Amino acid sequence: MKVVPYVTAYDGEDIRYQLTLAPSPEATDGIRLSYADVTEHDRLFGALWHRHGLTRAGRPEWKLVNTGRQRRCMLRLLCQVCGQPARDSAGLIWWVMNESPGANGLGEPFTHTPPTCRACIPIARNLCPRLREFSQVYTATAAEPYGVVADIFKPAGRNLVRAGTTRELPLDAFHDLEYALAKQLIVTLEDLRPEQVS
Ligand SMILES: [Zn+2]
Repeated sequence: MKVVPYVTAYDGEDIRYQLTLAPSPEATDGIRLSYADVTEHDRLFGALWHRHGLTRAGRPEWKLVNTGRQRRCMLRLLCQVCGQPARDSAGLIWWVMNESPGANGLGEPFTHTPPTCRACIPIARNLCPRLREFSQVYTATAAEPYGVVADIFKPAGRNLVRAGTTRELPLDAFHDLEYALAKQLIVTLEDLRPEQVS
């Protein structure tokens, strides 16, 4: 049977929700994106987060990432394939990416791709058509939250509409974050080095 990566979304994990704008004294415009029944668990790093179940029920959606598991991978440095720690005994965290990491204003590399442990790198390359086409393996010594992949919303009369396409937002883009629905966590990578893995 084909392995389903830890980070892959399942179609039975969708949660219906209603976005709204709610008054917020700290927000730049006095309002921010919210849920009608928002709880403290819906917000992290200044953004509202997409609600996504963790049941792994239904069928895998191969091209989609589960928001909760992606964030958990980044915060705990877990492998996106097996869900186990991606740090090796020498203290290095492993990544396999199909594109070069981005670079922020300070020249620090960043990515929304979770780590992949050394043992799962061949599995990831085998499973993912994009990695089969091109992949580069890296190690890093640490990863810190830097931004989010998010949909931005804006008021349109009594409704909310999406403003543009899904974007990468740094965590200091406070005004945009107030209208953002975060779907993935982005981290910066310390001491990033390309590695040769056959
Ligand atoms: Zn793994």
